[in-house]
Amino acid sequence: MTRRVPCYIREPEVNPDPPHVRQIPADISQHAPHSSWVGGPLFYVDMEFTCIDCGIVELWSAEDQKWWYETAKGYVFSTAGRCTACREVLKSRHGGTPRKSHRDRPEDTDM
Ligand SMILES: [Zn+2]
Repeated sequence: MTRRVPCYIREPEVNPDPPHVRQIPADISQHAPHSSWVGGPLFYVDMEFTCIDCGIVELWSAEDQKWWYETAKGYVFSTAGRCTACREVLKSRHGGTPRKSHRDRPEDTDM
């Protein structure tokens, strides 16, 4: 039996990958062990992400992903969170100032 799709549900516009997108096949045997049966990515493509610290959009390149998952043994479901600049700041702060306590948060945070 077929269900009619209500007309207000529209198919998302087809947006084929631009031809310049590169894919790097993943070597899943190099992935860090994990308990999920889903597995990690089978290939890497350049992806944009928004830095959780400063909010700028940066590109996480396929090469960096391969390095992260296969060389650095990053958790296979982790993704980039901070831009290069913020990571540098974090590194230089390592072992330094502790995280801000909840006291310092503005009252209007709704997270
Ligand atoms: Zn940043």
